[in-house]
Amino acid sequence: MSGEAARALVARLRTVVPDGCLVLPSSPRYDTARQVYNRMHDHRPAAILRSLDETVLRKALTSAATLEVPVAVRGGGHHIGGFSTVDAGLVIDFSEFRAVAYDPHTQTARVRPGARLGDLDTQLAAYGRCVPSGTVSDTGITGLTLGGGIGWLVAGHGLTCDHLSGARVLLADGRILDVSRDQHRDLFHALRGGGAGAFGIILELRFRTLPLPRITAGSVRFPLNRAADVLHRIHALLEERTPTSLTLAPTLLHRDGVPELSVDLCCHGDARETARETTRLKKGIGGDWSDVTERPYPRWQAHFDSSFLPPMRGYWKSTHSTRLALDPDLMTDALRAAPTARCSLLVEYFNTDTLHAHAEGSAYPLRDSRMGVLLSARWPDRAQDDTHVHWGRTWTERLRSGHDSVRAYSNYSDTSDSHAGMAGAGNALRRLEKTYDPDRLFARGHRAGLTDTRKARTPQDDQQNRLPSGPTTPTAP
Ligand SMILES: Cc1cc2nc3c(=O)[nH]c(=O)nc-3n(C[C@H](O)[C@H](O)[C@H](O)COP(=O)(O)OP(=O)(O)OC[C@H]3O[C@@H](n4cnc5c(N)ncnc54)[C@H](O)[C@@H]3O)c2cc1C
Repeated sequence: MSGEAARALVARLRTVVPDGCLVLPSSPRYDTARQVYNRMHDHRPAAILRSLDETVLRKALTSAATLEVPVAVRGGGHHIGGFSTVDAGLVIDFSEFRAVAYDPHTQTARVRPGARLGDLDTQLAAYGRCVPSGTVSDTGITGLTLGGGIGWLVAGHGLTCDHLSGARVLLADGRILDVSRDQHRDLFHALRGGGAGAFGIILELRFRTLPLPRITAGSVRFPLNRAADVLHRIHALLEERTPTSLTLAPTLLHRDGVPELSVDLCCHGDARETARETTRLKKGIGGDWSDVTERPYPRWQAHFDSSFLPPMRGYWKSTHSTRLALDPDLMTDALRAAPTARCSLLVEYFNTDTLHAHAEGSAYPLRDSRMGVLLSARWPDRAQDDTHVHWGRTWTERLRSGHDSVRAYSNYSDTSDSHAGMAGAGNALRRLEKTYDPDRLFARGHRAGLTDTRKARTPQDDQQNRLPSGPTTPTAP
């Protein structure tokens, strides 16, 4: 991408887009506006556009496409791979558009594309409702849903994408599609956890909501020398039976500089199930359970926020397995070898029956996973990049060694991970690409690795890949 094209884009945007929507390199707001969560991705876009006006967005997309300038779309800006920014390109930044509207008649939430998990949690709680989501409240709901969405209710209620009921998507050619189970089903399928992006710009998401659960949650902490044993015991219990109302997320981390295992957990069944599951786990692993108590759900959703405050540089690597086979001893060794105290290993467990109950019409590729391990490194200083990246890579390789069927969760992986999510779904993705984004305007992130199909297009392809029937409103001018 040439500097000339970037300059031409800015000149063109200035004539077709209101000034107030644009943040340009000359603006005092630019340096803040261009930042994403992971400061490793320190890019300088040619222009940042903040608007939900469909006409403005269409004009901006047409300008970028004509000048062949790359486009990145930002929800909450949290993807660790820095997918929502781009050098010398156009960033469409929705991070300020965070409204959530709840309709009590349909029990559905309509969500703006920049909404964070905390926006949904607090606003829906006022109606006694929720949407299962992730565990840090500043994460964007749009990116989270596109990759799946693993959180405290996953054991019983599945992923965030399992509660998506529809979306409005603006395509590169200017059409706006209302996407749902009944309309543009193939695209809806991809939005539900496919991990390959939206093939367009999501202007609104719609979710079915659940009654706000009563939860019992907290952390049972162990010194590091007990960690491997406790994790082995958890695996033995889960081999017998994986609960549907207890989500377990043990984390190996440093607290106040001291390494430990914190078995973080959330029971979300009724009182009898909660008593049964906590008693069983308590008997199995022991420890001090005084922190595990009944808590308001929105508060538990934000409980770990202070450990993830930006700005930081970050490197994550995720490994999912269909067996409870990833080795607790190695995980413990990995924490011992961590270069600094902000490195951690998060272990997540899944009930595959729950995940499969929601599988129809979803491209989420990890419904057979029984566990996932996320090695996460965060550090403030550029000089420490190499040691942290090396730690994440090396220990992930060791953890994966001998396991041939491991995969990675797209929301926790950058493009360097060949195991990331969508492996095996290539042909389906190429079909979607031809139908919805043939010129690959939105082919960033995990989709960037797909072969460019433009040259291979034939008239037969076009015939085969006509848009599925269903209204498209309104048609591009
Ligand atoms: C601190 C932290 C905690 C996390 N916790 C969890 C967790 O508990 N569970 C979990 O499953 N994941 C978690 N994640 C991962 C998270 O789900 C992904 O990073 C997700 O992509 C974040 O979405 P976002 O909108 O904030 O990110 P962005 O970086 O803005 O977007 C991510 C991707 O979605 C695309 N996108 C965003 N908005 C739109 C739009 N309107 N239209 C089209 N495409 C769009 C972007 O182009 C990009 O490719 C966490 C990440 C962080 C940094």
